[in-house]
Formats: sequence, C-alpha cells, structure tokens
Amino acid sequence: MSSRKVAYFSMEIGIRKDMPTYSGGLGILAGDTIRAAADLRVPMVAVTLLYRKGHFGQRLDQYGTQTEEQVEWVVGDFLKESAVRSAVTIEGRTVYIRPWRYDVTGTGGFSVPVYFLDTLLPENDEKDRTLTDSLYGGDEQYRLCQEIVLGIGGIRILRDLGYTGIERFHLNEGHSGLLTLELLHEETVKAGRESIGKEDIATVREQCVFTTHTPVAAGHDRFPLDLVLRVCEYGRDIVNLKDILCYNECLNMTYLALNLSRYINGVAKRHGEVSSLMYAGYAIDSITNGVHAATWTSPSFQRLNERYIPVCMENAVSLRYSLNIPKDDIWTAHLEAKEDLLRVVREKTGVAMDDRTFTIGFARRATAYKRADLLFHDTQRLLDIAERAGAFQVIYAGKAHPRDESGKAMIRRVFEAREKVKSRISVAYLEDYDMDLGRMITAGVDLWLNTPEPPLEASGTSGMKAAVNGVPSLSILDGWWIEGCLEGITGWAIGRDGAGTTEVNRSNDALSLYGKLEHTIIPLFYRDRDSYVEVMRNAIALNGSFFNTHRMIQEYVLKAYFR
Ligand SMILES: *Cc1c(COP(=O)(O)O)cnc(C)c1O
Repeated sequence: MSSRKVAYFSMEIGIRKDMPTYSGGLGILAGDTIRAAADLRVPMVAVTLLYRKGHFGQRLDQYGTQTEEQVEWVVGDFLKESAVRSAVTIEGRTVYIRPWRYDVTGTGGFSVPVYFLDTLLPENDEKDRTLTDSLYGGDEQYRLCQEIVLGIGGIRILRDLGYTGIERFHLNEGHSGLLTLELLHEETVKAGRESIGKEDIATVREQCVFTTHTPVAAGHDRFPLDLVLRVCEYGRDIVNLKDILCYNECLNMTYLALNLSRYINGVAKRHGEVSSLMYAGYAIDSITNGVHAATWTSPSFQRLNERYIPVCMENAVSLRYSLNIPKDDIWTAHLEAKEDLLRVVREKTGVAMDDRTFTIGFARRATAYKRADLLFHDTQRLLDIAERAGAFQVIYAGKAHPRDESGKAMIRRVFEAREKVKSRISVAYLEDYDMDLGRMITAGVDLWLNTPEPPLEASGTSGMKAAVNGVPSLSILDGWWIEGCLEGITGWAIGRDGAGTTEVNRSNDALSLYGKLEHTIIPLFYRDRDSYVEVMRNAIALNGSFFNTHRMIQEYVLKAYFR
C-alpha cells in the first residue's frame, strides 16, 4: 500500500453499468482514467462515494415526459467490505465511514483499488446513514455533508487503510476540495502548532492537483459560511482562511482548489483558455480528455484490432496503425456494430430501422446547452434534405437531471419534432442512457452529432468513443472537436470557430448543420462509400489514437503527478 503515490478523488466514478455510481461524463471519465492507470501501472488509489440508491432509471411516456425510478443494487455483489472504520464530525455528531473496495485490473494484471465510502452504519445517527445514498440529490446541506465525507473522510480512510506513501492528491473537480483542510490540519499537528500557518499552505499546495471540468456555473459548488460553521468541523479554519477559500462570503470549492493546488488544468485546449479567463491570475494548463479505448470499442472492432494491432490493448496510441487496415474490413466491422445497435433499437422501442440507411446518433445528458433539438430547428428543411440528398434516420438517448426542467423540455421537443418528420425520417429515443447503451450507440451509427452552445462544452467524450469505432463526428467547434476536427478528413464542423451563443447563431448553426448534411455528408455516404470509409478509418487512426486515456494519463504523470 505504501507504493501508491497518487490518490484520485472524484464525486462519481463509473466502473460498470450495473453499479449506478455515476451520472454522466465526469464519472465515466473518472472510470476511464482509472482503467488507463491500471493498464499503464500508474501507482494510483481512488476514492469516491457509494450511492446505495444509485443514479436514477429513466422512463419516457409517449410525449417524452420523463419520470425517474430508483435503481436497486446489491453492494455486496460487487464490492468487498473493509473492516476499517474512520470518522468525521458533522454538526457535532461523529459519523463513521466504511470503505468498500473494488479493484480495477489492467491488461497486464496490475490493479488500482477504488474505495467507495459508505455511512450506512448502525452506530451512525439516523440522518447520517443516508448521506451516501444519492448522487447529486438532496439540498445544499446534504451536498456539503457528502463533500465532508468524501474529502475529509477520504483522507482519513486512506491513512487508516495504511496508504502512507501518497505524494499527490488529484481533485477531479472541486467536490473533494475539503481534503485540503484535512491535509492542512495534519501539517499543523506535525509541527505542533495550534492553527494553520502559511508554511502549511505551501506544503499542502505542493501535494494537490486540480482538474476543472466545466465553465457552467452549476458545476461549481458554493456553501454559505454560516452553514459551513454549523456543519463542518473545520468551519473555524475556513473562516480564518477566508481570503483563499471563499468568494463573496461563501466557501467556494473552485477557489479553494485553485488556491491549494500546484497544478491546475482544464480538459481541452479551449477549455483551459476559457478557464484562464474565468479565473484570472491562476496558471491554468490543459490536458485534453480521452476515453479508455478498449472499454468503448465494439466487439467487431476489438476483433479487428486484435488481428491487425494487438498492442493497442496495452496502449491505444498504436491505434494510429489502423491506417493499414483494409477499408473493407473497417466497413464489415462497422456494419456488425450497426446491426447490433439496430436490433437493440427494435427491441427497446419497436422502431424497425434499415441497416442500409444513413444513421445519425445523438446521446448525452439532456440539458439546455447541449441543444439536442438543434437538428429539428427547421423540420421542413430536414424533410427536404431526406428527399433530395438521401434517406436518414436518427437515434437519440439521454437523461435529464430530475430537477432540470429545461433539460426535460428538451426531450419533449425532440418527441414533438419526431411526430412532424415521421413521414420520411425515422427517429428513435432510447430510455435509460447508461454505459452499455453509450457503447452501442457510439459504435453503431454512421455519424455522431454534437451541437453544444460554445464555449460550454468543456471537452465532451462521446465523440471520442465514436472515433475509436470509426464513427466520424459532425460537431460544433467546441471542446475536444477544435483539436480533433480536420474538415472532411476526420469528420466535419458545424459553424465556425469562435461563434457566440445568440439566437442568430443558433439559426446559423442549424443552417450550417443542414448544409453539411445535404451537400457533403449524405452524398458521400451514398455515392462515394469508399471515401466515406476513408474518413471512418482516419477517425480511428488520427483521433482514436490521441483522444484516449492512455495518452491522457501519461500527460498527467508527466505534467502533474511526478514533476
Ligand atoms: C460518454 C458518456 C457520457 C458523456 O458524454 P459527453 O459527450 O461528454 O456528454 C455521458 N453519459 C454516458 C452514459 C456516457 O457513456
């Protein structure tokens, strides 16, 4: 245990579909990071919360109105309980924490242990037992308590489990920021001092690495100081360090993390720049996200890779050599993934889609800035494209957060539009978007559509999943696509770089999208299949080989962990 040098903290970690411990992009990225660390033998240990009630299941009625269901899972079926107990103090009460362990094992047999923290213990007060029940549920106080368990509790658990050699703490988003207060406290105890000194801050700063994941305000936690004083055992220290932990009289997890980290990064080049403008005065670097290629590659492409590039399991950077795979083989592997997806669509929705028809995919969290409805901006134009350029069909998936009304309205608008275009264009909306569906959809469509409002898509990862499966993107130039798009070579851009987010831009984006579909992409697919498959192969070789977590974790090792 003393050999582990990096502790990775994340509010959510997506390990597998049947463990509902993640809600979306952040958790899946965390899982992909850990999978890559295991493959490349990075000496890491990870900490997150358990979520017994999990993230919700989604049901949609005929109008696209979403209802949520609780997902039951039996924790003991997946995780190993540890006998260690640590404790934090919340509102003056002692809250005991139990860690459950899951080992993520890499291709070479090296494992990264992940600890899921749980407060459902008989020795805890009734209301503290539910603190680790739900992900992004409850009120402000519930959330603060969860972050106390994750940050302060997480450090104590690691110490009590015997992890004595940790040199770096990686804060995957600000949620785990309170871990810095526990580290500060350890320093003052070591020095025999009563209160936190400047030198302690410098010492702790040397140990922490912070990755910010979104420019959207809701992604940045703030807690009023009176709440912090009442709930958190380090409330007094936080008030004393107001200058560096607070902003506008609130404990601000982003400022806390910015001020207490030696290395800070955004998750794509543009996002690093946008974050530097948001947080002037901080040196913010960027490490562009990736996906764990083997996790997101369809069985048919896995077989192809095993045949042509066996080493890509150990390091996805070698996907570059896909350039040597015959195009016929690429197309055959793709058709198999497409048929698998269309079978699932038929089983789940009753919609029968044709595997010869050009198929567009769009799956992500349903929230306003992702603009799932941009494709339907002008339904008449869309119908005309289907008539003039060639038939196409669309597969959607995505859950809205239970309290995100505009996200829910977005799903209903897609359903309404589906009615309007159904004479010519078949549209399926799959319920309950999760890792398994994500894998099927990104692998099985012919084109991956991405239409966020710039600059709000910090990175985006689903287009990278598509790329490792040879599926090109048609995307707004935002997030990773600014780096990944070579027009007509790896995919296509919607609009131009640097456009804003006004209504005018919305119709311009829609016009640009329609133009590319009608005049470039659909004709290429139907009339020059060989060139279309060339773009598919480039998507793997040029983008799959770079936008993966093997390359990403190496950047963290070189720039953040061991420098
Ligand atoms: C990949 C994935 C996401 C994140 O996709 P983005 O493109 O980054 O929004 C969210 N949910 C699921 C189930 C996924 O597989």
